[in-house]
Amino acid sequence: MKTKIDPILKRKRRIVVKKINKISKNMKRLTFSHEDLYDFPESEVGGYVKLIFADKNDLSKNFARPFTVRNFRRDSLEIDIDFVIHDGDHGYASSWLNSVNNGDEIFITGPGPRERVSHQADWFFFVGDMSAIPAISVNLEMLPRNACGIVILEILSNQDRIKLRKPENININWVIDQESNLLESVSNFKWLRGTPFVWVACEFSKMKSLRNFFQIKKKIEKTNMYISSYWKSGLNQEEHKILKKNDSEKWIL
Ligand SMILES: Cc1cc2nc3c(=O)[nH]c(=O)nc-3n(C[C@H](O)[C@H](O)[C@H](O)COP(=O)(O)OP(=O)(O)OC[C@H]3O[C@@H](n4cnc5c(N)ncnc54)[C@H](O)[C@@H]3O)c2cc1C
Repeated sequence: MKTKIDPILKRKRRIVVKKINKISKNMKRLTFSHEDLYDFPESEVGGYVKLIFADKNDLSKNFARPFTVRNFRRDSLEIDIDFVIHDGDHGYASSWLNSVNNGDEIFITGPGPRERVSHQADWFFFVGDMSAIPAISVNLEMLPRNACGIVILEILSNQDRIKLRKPENININWVIDQESNLLESVSNFKWLRGTPFVWVACEFSKMKSLRNFFQIKKKIEKTNMYISSYWKSGLNQEEHKILKKNDSEKWIL
């Protein structure tokens, strides 16, 4: 369920770091602001922007890294992006994040659309790792107050639990990456009554095993599910994108 965004709104924008906050042991929130955000579409909070990094050796080359728009405040022209602090071997985004300071500027393109959750479902099943916490948080905030369901979040440590605003009958379950298996945690949950809407985003290999579980074992139809990989262990985003494209072409259920 994607909405089309006017291509003019997807132009390159300059944004400047205004605040840096550590929101958990392995997550940093950067608040950016700039007048270029004057026509940023509010409806796409929860969608993603691409941060543009130049190649240090060849400034004509660019590398884009997608990140979720966690909040947008039109009054102050500010956006928040929550970054996982990961130790992947010197990615463009993670290296930049390590030394970022207030006042630093960067260009973004986008937004790409937020993946809509059908509110017609009987219940909701969200699964994600830390890179998906921002998108899941936005989706939880938009659910109807009487929504019920389950959220399983894989975090890097116990100190990465954060407070999420959500309907009362949505249960949050935290699993620690090193201590448990995400697929096992998902499979062990007692299935609720009726048809769920399933929303999954995480590392590529984990996404594939969860896709098998939801599509083949639980027979969830594509219209009742969003499932995506946000990154792939051992590969950079360019390599991950190629793998993801080939994989989705082969996945024909
Ligand atoms: C639609 C979408 C929305 C996203 N939203 C967010 C978001 O809001 N916050 C966020 O933090 N990420 C988000 N991501 C994931 C983010 O784009 C990737 O993690 C990205 O690859 C990081 O870029 P990099 O330059 O640091 O690393 P890359 O150059 O891409 O990779 C370098 C190395 O780091 C490893 N690596 C990359 N990401 C991670 C990770 N999360 N954990 C551990 N190792 C990693 C890679 O496997 C590789 O070995 C999103 C991705 C998508 C597709």
